[in-house]
Amino acid sequence: MLLMEKETKSDLSEIQINKLFDIISYAKKNSSFYKKSLKNLNLSKNKFSIDLYKKIPFTTKSDLAKNNESFLAVPISKIADFVTTSGTTGSPISLYLTKKDLKRLSKNECDSLTLMGHTKKDTFQLMTTMDKQFMAGMAYFLGVQELGAGMIRIGPGVPQLQWDSILRYSPTTLIAVPSFIITLLDYAKENNINYKSTSIKSIVCIGESIRDENLNYNKLGKRILENWNINIYSTYASTEMGAAFSECTAQKGCHLNEDLLFLEVLKEDDSNALNGEYGEIVITTLNVEGTPLIRYRTGDIAKIYRDKCECGRASPRLGPIMGRKNQMIKFRGTTLYPKAIFDLLDNYKTISCYKVIIKKDELNNDNITLLLDEKIANSNILNEIKQMCKSSLRVIPNFEFIEINKLRGMVYKKHMRKPEKIKFIT
Ligand SMILES: [Zn+2]
Repeated sequence: MLLMEKETKSDLSEIQINKLFDIISYAKKNSSFYKKSLKNLNLSKNKFSIDLYKKIPFTTKSDLAKNNESFLAVPISKIADFVTTSGTTGSPISLYLTKKDLKRLSKNECDSLTLMGHTKKDTFQLMTTMDKQFMAGMAYFLGVQELGAGMIRIGPGVPQLQWDSILRYSPTTLIAVPSFIITLLDYAKENNINYKSTSIKSIVCIGESIRDENLNYNKLGKRILENWNINIYSTYASTEMGAAFSECTAQKGCHLNEDLLFLEVLKEDDSNALNGEYGEIVITTLNVEGTPLIRYRTGDIAKIYRDKCECGRASPRLGPIMGRKNQMIKFRGTTLYPKAIFDLLDNYKTISCYKVIIKKDELNNDNITLLLDEKIANSNILNEIKQMCKSSLRVIPNFEFIEINKLRGMVYKKHMRKPEKIKFIT
């Protein structure tokens, strides 16, 4: 009951409602896509409510891909920066940012870095791309300027150059894709670089998750921390949102920036996910000028935490992204996502390769089969894995065992850029 009251209250926050009203009326007036899709929406400021908001149709990724240019809400001459996102459907999606949108972006990253405890005294080293129309690198550059701190723009890759810069300029914080940090540490070990005593105090991790569904560090997070006595922070962001969810110093999920986004986390029936429940992340971008998005379905699934954070902030937090909406697995009455299975198996050093097969039965239920190395079939680890599945996934899947080289062939396919760790068979 308490939770419901809290939810209603936060849903009805006047400032949020006003911001929502402003962006919806702006989009309806200025973007030809919303002019059409919100044609029948009767908007008046004193009658606008969360109930009315909930009646507004969703915007999907495919809407944005198919009608890309019609989302633009200003004349093209007002665009300051053209960004693209690879999207999941193949063709790249363009997002158009005005000067004001770039300011919004710098506020976002500045807020995000501040949440993690960074100040203007920090020096940052950027290990992601600034060009090629990517948003993240530029966003962090702007945010660091807004914070009043300094930035060393090395860009991705080139471990030697990264270490040269760390040793020369003594940055305190790295902004990086976490799996690259593993490469960086391996390089330091091979080349006798004293990585254990450097100026680095923290890493802002982008693009990949360092936590599991219970907010503990996953294999990647653990591997970094085993080697390095520093703080690592999670973020969740997308080009479409033009904003990031970021961990605070309490590190109990990534906080929503309520000035920049309105968040819904929706269950399968489109009702609100409650505290600790999974749902799809649906956002409305607040205060955006170039490409506003209303009730945009990201397709990303995460847990929402609505209770007050240990840091004292009341803004909702998200857990790590567990997968895409279409990857939801329903197995023996339980709902789970591929990442939970991957995180579990990744914890076993003896398991170097695995494949998860999801097969639908006649009743539309999923069957999970884990394909493992045949050597595991008669080992003690198998029982351990089964116990872990029971306690952590709440179900025990089926197991099949295959000769390791055959299994590798099924996972690392020549024509695919990424290993195929999961296959859905319908
Ligand atoms: Zn917090």
